[in-house]
Amino acid sequence: MDRVCIVGAGIAGAGVAQAIGDAASVDVFEAANVGGRMASLERAGCRIDTGASYLEVDDDQRSLIERATTDLREIDAPIWQFDAAGDLSEGPNQPPRYSTPDGIDRIVADLFADAGATVTDHCPVERIGRSAGCWRVETREGTHDAEQLVLATPATATRSLLRSADWTADFRTYLADLADSIPYRTMDTVALHYPFAIDRPYFGLVSLESVYDVAWIAREGCKRGHVPSGEAVLVVQFGPAWATTHHTIRPDEAARAAADRAADLLDDEELFEFDWFEYQRWGSAIPGRGPGDSLLDRAAEFDLALAGDWVTGIGRTRAALESGLATGRRISNRL
Ligand SMILES: Cc1cc2nc3c(=O)[nH]c(=O)nc-3n(C[C@H](O)[C@H](O)[C@H](O)COP(=O)(O)OP(=O)(O)OC[C@H]3O[C@@H](n4cnc5c(N)ncnc54)[C@H](O)[C@@H]3O)c2cc1C
Repeated sequence: MDRVCIVGAGIAGAGVAQAIGDAASVDVFEAANVGGRMASLERAGCRIDTGASYLEVDDDQRSLIERATTDLREIDAPIWQFDAAGDLSEGPNQPPRYSTPDGIDRIVADLFADAGATVTDHCPVERIGRSAGCWRVETREGTHDAEQLVLATPATATRSLLRSADWTADFRTYLADLADSIPYRTMDTVALHYPFAIDRPYFGLVSLESVYDVAWIAREGCKRGHVPSGEAVLVVQFGPAWATTHHTIRPDEAARAAADRAADLLDDEELFEFDWFEYQRWGSAIPGRGPGDSLLDRAAEFDLALAGDWVTGIGRTRAALESGLATGRRISNRL
């Protein structure tokens, strides 16, 4: 049976594994946690989605995920929007949005498990190489061979793996340069915990213009199982303009700024005083554009495939999943 090695256990990698299914033996290596930017953490009985706030998928993708995840839950409150003056209004279209009581990363873990892939997390791929028509993947746990290699990593990591690859084809440099040319936006996430409930008619508030400091605020308690009753968690995401002009900010200062903006926007001075917070900087949060199509066909000539939101140029969960599924189908057809 052919061996496929997937580097990166985000939703794009999970899409690849799903589309391949049992047509090949699939090994996945993940540098950190399964889920990638669909990240969740647990603290004091709260489950907080710190990267992607929700999954938004089309009907086909939802059927696939529902088969793999028993606990997919729709977030049954709408998203509202705010303008430069801080005025709130109801948002225009409201497609269904999802997470799970265990956190949004559970969706990715379940997709891999359902596909029968073998996933090793906290195991970065340090080097890749190609010789005699076979890929070699080096991790601190050893060397693994595969007939097909999938880089389901962000463009930044893809570039690094290609630059250091033991692979003589000219295409390697071309591909590394292409990945290097993808711009990314940086985003900061601050989760604020309050020992009291916050009741509002919306789940999230989205900025109408990207120039504002806060791009997004979510009430994590709208997701079933995420926040105990009588408490609240607000997830405040600062957009690229703020993150780049505050690149040396301390986590406690970011939390203070997040609480000030939350109190302003939700018009409630009680929100100045949170009792704990979590902070995370996402250096490669959202790709600014994609690389173009020809690359996928050319990479396939070397039994190499790429998947991820950056391949589509759209920094959304559904785009990353679609990229992974399309890549997985292409590989299946070649096996
Ligand atoms: C703050 C934030 C908020 C967002 N909000 C939303 C939202 O609400 N809705 C939405 O649809 N989208 C949202 N997005 C975008 C969405 O999260 C991404 O588009 C999507 O998760 C990307 O998936 P991916 O599989 O392409 O990449 P990733 O999830 O980044 O997965 C790639 C994986 O590769 C791993 N990796 C890298 N290098 C190596 C290596 N050398 N060895 C092994 N593994 C490696 C990484 O650790 C990572 O886990 C948000 C993103 C951010 C950062």
